[in-house]
Order: sequence, then structure tokens, then C-alpha cells
Amino acid sequence: MRRLRSPRDCCFDSVRADPAALFCATCGQPLARCMAHADCGGLVGEDGLCHVCVAPHLQIIPGATMNAPIGGSVALPFDLYNSSTVDRPLLVTGLWSREKGEWRKERLGWEQLDPNTRAPASVIAREFDRAGLHEIEIMWAVATRWRSREENFAFSTRVLLNIAGDKDEKGPVVQISSENEMNGNVIQITDNSGRTGKDDGKVVSAIDMNIQRLDLEERRLGLRGMGEDLRVLRSATFAFRGYGDKEAPASGLPVLTSDAVLAFGRSRTRADGGDNDVRLLVTDRGGKLDEELSQMISRRHFELYVENDRLMLRVTGSNGIRVNGQPQAANATVRLNDGDVIAPVAKAADALALSVRFTREFDQVCTVTLAREPAVTGASA
Ligand SMILES: [Zn+2]
Ligand SMILES: [Zn+2]
Repeated sequence: MRRLRSPRDCCFDSVRADPAALFCATCGQPLARCMAHADCGGLVGEDGLCHVCVAPHLQIIPGATMNAPIGGSVALPFDLYNSSTVDRPLLVTGLWSREKGEWRKERLGWEQLDPNTRAPASVIAREFDRAGLHEIEIMWAVATRWRSREENFAFSTRVLLNIAGDKDEKGPVVQISSENEMNGNVIQITDNSGRTGKDDGKVVSAIDMNIQRLDLEERRLGLRGMGEDLRVLRSATFAFRGYGDKEAPASGLPVLTSDAVLAFGRSRTRADGGDNDVRLLVTDRGGKLDEELSQMISRRHFELYVENDRLMLRVTGSNGIRVNGQPQAANATVRLNDGDVIAPVAKAADALALSVRFTREFDQVCTVTLAREPAVTGASA
């Protein structure tokens, strides 16, 4: 399967120079737009993450001190920060922590994180019954929204809690020393740069922790994917069968449109001077146009797009459609699966149908085939 690499600087330059470009003029890779491309100018790789829209950070604030009893638990404070340059918030939809084993859900008293703002959070670290290193992993889920769409991701970072510990650990460490005369320990946060003396512990800048995507957890939490064993990535290519000349895009490409959707409807395709990607007209098997039924298809009738590693359909026309026989009204969104059948004319579902076929490679859908029935006379089968 062809991978869709993360976009490089040349790809951003290319799309700025030619907003309609399908491929980077320099490196030749397909230009897959962020759903919010009109707003952010962002491009995505196969993982669907737009680094312009989604720029989360977890920062430990040095100098923070907490008291904790030995053998008890302590709240580890940090800030979540959104360094996105687009004027759109990131929504923090969940927070978890774990030392070993299962994730524990943590409380978070807020959700919205505006660009260039930080907000405080904490997780509970437990049971420090021995000296030495304790690792705590913090996971948080974010959502980025654009119009009716939303992409969800989960990130994590690992913080080492060094209880009365050594000074030669890598990365930021949280030190717990028992120098306090009261019944607690003091968590002292150091940047491990050697300036860890007891009197100069107030390091000024925040420590920006390394973070990583947790794609397995995203699936397990239901944030992304179609169940735990199937994903439709942004690299999935589309194949069109049974359409007439200039009624569908070339097969074999991912969704590369400026709004990251494939638009289906009655008006002409981009290749034919219109603004649709797939033109839908009702014809009989002989190829004769049924004007009355075709009028029930809106100019832009529905959209297909890849969101959260799923193939999604959104109804944009006023007359509705059917998916597997079920009526779907305007603005409905439907998750599509292998074998689904889209009937664009809700009141005459037999008149025109598009079948959805997945070609899989391991847990990924590499090709989505959209076959039109009846096929237009003379179209490739
Ligand atoms: Zn490039
Ligand atoms: Zn974006």
C-alpha cells in the first residue's frame, strides 16, 4: 500500500503556490488537506493529524511544590498548552493516568483550550512506598472541530517521579524528598540540568514534555477507527466504477480536494466545469436520462470523507438519501462500512445505487470502491 507521508515544507509551499494542486511540485507526494484547510492551510499525512490545528503540549511547571504523605498519593500538577496558530480552540475531552496497568480516568474541570493559552490540570500519583523512580504516564484526548466535522486524537507523556532519588536520570524528574518537617514529602521539580540544588530549584521556564500519539488507545477508546481492527486512513485511495465520462475523478487517489471531501450530486464535476467530484444522474439500463428522478438529487447531494480513520457520509441535499435502505435526512452523518449501499434517491431506491467495497490490507482499508448501479452505458466495469 502506498503510504501518505507527513507533509514537508515543500508540500506546504506547493499548496500555497497552487491551491488546486494534487501533488507536491517538489517531492511529488499527494497533497491531502486538513478538513479545515480553508482556515489553517494545513496538510495531513495518513494519520490525519494537522499539526497546524493540533499542537498540544504538556508542561511541567518547575517550582511547584506539593505535600504528600509517605505511602499515600499526590496530585502531580502540570499545564496543558495549545500552541496552535489558528484561531480555533482545542477541546480536551478526557484525561487519564497510569503507573502500571489500567488507565485511571482523572477529573478535569474545563474542556476548551484556546490557542496560545494554557490551563492547569493534575493527575493522582499513588503509593510511593519505596524510594527510587516511579513512572507515571499521562494521557489526554483532544478534539478539533471545523464546521460539522471533528477529529479526535490521544496523546501521552511519561513523567518520572524520583523519590529522594538520584540525580542522573534523563529528562525532567519530579523529586520527592522528605526534608519537610511536617508529615509530608515535598515534590521538587527539576530540569535535571545539574541546577538541582535545594536553594536554586526555582527554574523559570516550563518543561515541555515529549509527547506521543497513542493510536492503539485512540481505537480502544473509540475515538478513531472502525472497531479495533479496521481503519480507513487518509491514504486510502478511491476507485470509481460504472460512471460516465467526466462524471467521476480518476481512480487510485486519496481524497485530495481543497475541503477534504468528495462531493456527490447532480451538478457537473470539477473536470467538467462544475464543483462536484462525482455527478449523479438517474439513467435506465439503456443509458436514457430520467429527468424527473434526477431532479430529486440535489446539486450537492452528499459528501464522503475520511474522518477519525472512518469513512463518513454526510447528507447535504434536502431530499435525503437511503443507506442500506434506511432513510437519512439532510445533515445526517453515517459511518460507512464494507458492503453498504447508498441510494441517492430516497423515494426510488432501486433507480440508482452506489455500492461501497473495501479492499483491505491487514487492518487498513487501502481502497474504497464506489460502484454505480446501473452502470452508465459504455463505462468501464
Ligand atoms: Zn513536498
Ligand atoms: Zn488544520
